[in-house]
Amino acid sequence: MRDFTLETYKLLLETLKQNDYTAMTMQEYAAVQPLTGKVVVLRHDVDLHAERSLQTAKIEYELGLKATYYFRIVPQSNQPEIIKQIVQLGHEIGYHYEDMSICKGDTEKAIKHFEKQLAYFRQFYDVKTISMHGVPASKYDGKDLWKTYDYKKYGIICEPYFDIDYSKTFYLTDTGRRWDGWKVSVRDKILGFQDQWQQQGFVYHSTLDVIEAIKTDRLPHPLIITSHPQRWVSDFLPWTKELIVQNIKNIVKRIIVRKK
Ligand SMILES: [Zn+2]
Repeated sequence: MRDFTLETYKLLLETLKQNDYTAMTMQEYAAVQPLTGKVVVLRHDVDLHAERSLQTAKIEYELGLKATYYFRIVPQSNQPEIIKQIVQLGHEIGYHYEDMSICKGDTEKAIKHFEKQLAYFRQFYDVKTISMHGVPASKYDGKDLWKTYDYKKYGIICEPYFDIDYSKTFYLTDTGRRWDGWKVSVRDKILGFQDQWQQQGFVYHSTLDVIEAIKTDRLPHPLIITSHPQRWVSDFLPWTKELIVQNIKNIVKRIIVRKK
């Protein structure tokens, strides 16, 4: 079975369901944490190819699972018709912000930009959570905006980097097109915790590894699974392109990480 296809994603979700996991949106989870038990937050960062997120959204809907989709403001992600349909399927929508790099580190401009985009996304959904889009090549860290300003003043209850207790919440991300790619990630790191989890043996490479861990109850929970729907394609040509592009990106990222 090829990894990072819609079929594999569906199998992952079915396995979670069969093993009695409950899906919560980011907003729901942030409001009730900390808790114990088999809870999963299906978080999606829609970086590119917005149309592919509609595919994962439909699969989740068919299985009765609610997920959270974070959209960027750029046209590759911000597709109003797709956003509307995903809302109609019952999923949560949030803003995948990158105002600091768009405004080249000017915090005053960036917060105005943030306000404007948040209002834009609230046309579609009552946005209560946001997540940062990490731009590996950018010298600006999007989270630095919150050194000066407070997103809670804008009715935001959760920015997963700051508001999730990772000592009680396991975190998986498909960054790098693998589930242990945080080693080569520039920005998508939960500092300290991933190394700790690795020492405890909670490290998975392929989606089948994750599925196997769910079946044998070796996957820590509650957990957040962050995935990028643009990577999950079934057709062979776009699938191969994702594979090749990601392999090159991983090499470049490794060089950036080493330099830092
Ligand atoms: Zn992103």
